[in-house]
Amino acid sequence: MAGYNVAPLENLVEQFEKMPGIGYKTAQRLAYYVLNLSKTEAENFSKAITDAHEKIHYCRVCCNLTDQELCPVCRSEKRDKSVICVVETPRDAMAMEATNEYKGTYHVLHGAISPLNDIGPDDLSVKELLSRLTADVSEVIMATNPTVEGDATAMYLSRLLKPMGLKVTRLAYGIPVGGDLEYADQVTLARALEGRNEL
Ligand code: ZN
Repeated sequence: MAGYNVAPLENLVEQFEKMPGIGYKTAQRLAYYVLNLSKTEAENFSKAITDAHEKIHYCRVCCNLTDQELCPVCRSEKRDKSVICVVETPRDAMAMEATNEYKGTYHVLHGAISPLNDIGPDDLSVKELLSRLTADVSEVIMATNPTVEGDATAMYLSRLLKPMGLKVTRLAYGIPVGGDLEYADQVTLARALEGRNEL
């Protein structure tokens, strides 16, 4: 079908192709799927995208994603506010939640320190973390990924927090080195949480 080109369809394929893990063939399949949706379905789909963008923002306390002022964890009376688990991404916090082992709160950095990519502490929600460290907080768990960047971030924060008299711990290995927290299975992640060490 050389020369056969429908611009809006090509545009749709291009949008899908930008998504992580989506190659051209899959992008094409998804574009045809969208094309075959009813008008209402198509409107709901595009509204879901706009809604997510408009309504979701960072929790005022922990910087996790929420559509309210505070996220469900920060809102909950049952969570132990004296323990803060520092993670790189909202997906990492979700992975920790799935273990059902953790009853404290989170702090989402939205990345890790990476001099190679020009990402420093000011690009992360470090200031927000520091502003949470009142006398009520007793422990900060470093649950950044076990990668060079994740370890560097944990070390950086630990050096900052320990002089404040806080107990700073790091998730124990048990999760694959060089891996991503969000891909670890629940048992491995729960065990890593159990065996965390003080830095
Ligand atoms: Zn929160």
